[in-house]
Amino acid sequence: MIEECIGRPEVELRRELVQFGRWLSRLGFMPGTSGNLSVRLDQERLLVTPTGMSKYLMRAADMVIVDLEGRQLAGSRKVTSELSMHLAVYQMRADVEAVVHSHPPIATAFACAGRALDEMLCQEAVMTLGSVPLAQYATTGTDEVAASLRPFIPHHTAILMANHGAVAYGPTLLDAFLKMETVEHLAHIRLVAHQLGSAQTLNDTQLEDLFRAKQKYIRNAT
Ligand SMILES: [Zn+2]
Repeated sequence: MIEECIGRPEVELRRELVQFGRWLSRLGFMPGTSGNLSVRLDQERLLVTPTGMSKYLMRAADMVIVDLEGRQLAGSRKVTSELSMHLAVYQMRADVEAVVHSHPPIATAFACAGRALDEMLCQEAVMTLGSVPLAQYATTGTDEVAASLRPFIPHHTAILMANHGAVAYGPTLLDAFLKMETVEHLAHIRLVAHQLGSAQTLNDTQLEDLFRAKQKYIRNAT
């Protein structure tokens, strides 16, 4: 397991941003130059991916350093235009050290159809993300994006963004990446289950048993 970000050498965090950028790119979650990633360097600074670059081709030297108000402190490239989304998460969640934003195709299709991922169809959904809400429409690159996410940030770790994509966050870049991967996986299962025409949602008893199993799992893991 990759450790939390704060306190780790900057060079390692830069390498990790490259690694997960490539991984997300290969999964088809960041086509073109879309998507962006960030990690906390310390209490005041973030290391963020630049704007206008393929995340497959990005190198460690391309990253940009900003403060928590979004002012660029270092880096020869310009920071992502979607920075306000990342800032909103870090400002509201002291426990979060990494944020991933991408456009995974099936999850984004749900976001374009005005549908949250809030139907508990498979056990994995309950055991991992719970419900993934849908934030209302906001123009990319504006402060509207942060405003649309704020109501959900405290109680969720993955959010769909209407007609846009998804954002996921956690204590490490690996954790945020795995959540993003799970969002797309759950969207895919939901799509196919409904295409099959007989999707069976979990009942209350099954949900209670799963919540108990989840609590036990969390206790054993800590
Ligand atoms: Zn985007």
